[in-house]
Amino acid sequence: MEQRRPLPIADTSAERPALTGETLETLTANLMAHGEPAFRARQILEWLYKKRVRSWDGMTNLSKPLREWLASAYTLIPASLVSSNQAQDVTDKLLLELSDRALIETVIIRAPQDGVGINHSRKTICISTQVGCAMGCVFCASGLDGFRRNLTAGEIVAQLLAVCHQEDPHSPRADDEFASFDNIVVMGMGEPLHNYDNLLRALTILNAEWGMGFGARRVTISTSGLVPQIQRLAQEKLGFRLAISLHGATDEVRGKIMPVNKRWPLGELLPAAKAFAETHGRMLTLEFILIKDLNDSTDQATRLAAIAKDLHAHVNLIPYNTVDGLAWQRPGETRIEAFAEVLAQRSISFTLRREKGHDINAACGQLRLKAERAREGDSTDRLVP
Ligand code: SAH
Ligand code: SF4
Repeated sequence: MEQRRPLPIADTSAERPALTGETLETLTANLMAHGEPAFRARQILEWLYKKRVRSWDGMTNLSKPLREWLASAYTLIPASLVSSNQAQDVTDKLLLELSDRALIETVIIRAPQDGVGINHSRKTICISTQVGCAMGCVFCASGLDGFRRNLTAGEIVAQLLAVCHQEDPHSPRADDEFASFDNIVVMGMGEPLHNYDNLLRALTILNAEWGMGFGARRVTISTSGLVPQIQRLAQEKLGFRLAISLHGATDEVRGKIMPVNKRWPLGELLPAAKAFAETHGRMLTLEFILIKDLNDSTDQATRLAAIAKDLHAHVNLIPYNTVDGLAWQRPGETRIEAFAEVLAQRSISFTLRREKGHDINAACGQLRLKAERAREGDSTDRLVP
């Protein structure tokens, strides 16, 4: 009979790593070091990503001592749901709490399809990569309280599992589909390319056949424009889509609102973006928030059209969402229409996001900021009412 070494009990007072941050390789190595056969790692990851158990005890084909050891060595999912804020059945904001009590947001955006219920809508998930943000864009809620820390790979993956746990009960999935969503945009709190290694590890776990088998082409990473990291991303085996937050078509305008433009001005950013698009053979997206009297002139529109044409990029026009405590406003309808018309006349592929009400696409970071501030001022220590 197989003689098994007793499993050591890990020191639970130390920070336990998250199972959601392990790759098949690292988990296998760890299990084998504890006398377990290699195939256990696949079994465990299957429970986590495919059968979606939420407790160690749910992993019923593992022995009790192994489950006990796993529980002492790992955190299963390093994020817990604090609240879920459904706005008009179209967008759900999940507020998640991490082990250090930091709060992050993960958003589910549903695109309803005619003739079928909301449960059959296409779902895009917006994930966060940092707590706060260091980039200091002057219009953005995510950076208002500065940068706290990077999310770990396990915390990034945990956001996607939290979405699946919420959506699974009413998301019909094909047998070979393991995600209950269709697309991911890395557009939540934080600058994803500032947390490059953890993000890539998380997306690799998501993509792997032992993970959720989720295609890289269905993932869009949005960046404020970190040139060296864009160049690095272009070399990755997995072909993610890229969105650039432009928000200004000249250095003068962009420099007023995005400090990153001083380090990486348009003269460096645009060639890097073009090289990325050429390597990947896929259209880039240029995000352009329209802010009243800042970047909403037809001159900016004309210059934006020229940039988009040169890069063969799709433009996302986003009327600014006001942020509590900031004075920036969205332009009036006629001004927005005039801006869009300049792009249309020049045959630029573009979308003008017209959300039903500000709450739905409320700017990244706002829900978390409100909750953090409520928490600071609330002696009973309740998070959200
Ligand atoms: N840090 C990355 C990704 C997160 S921000 C980036 O900047 O690209 C995701 C998008 O939301 C960016 O295009 C950002 O500029 C935009 N955004 C931030 N605050 C906004 C607001 N108040 N209204 C509309 N869009 C906003
Ligand atoms: Fe950070 Fe993006 Fe917000 Fe700028 S727009 S502060 S990079 S999250």
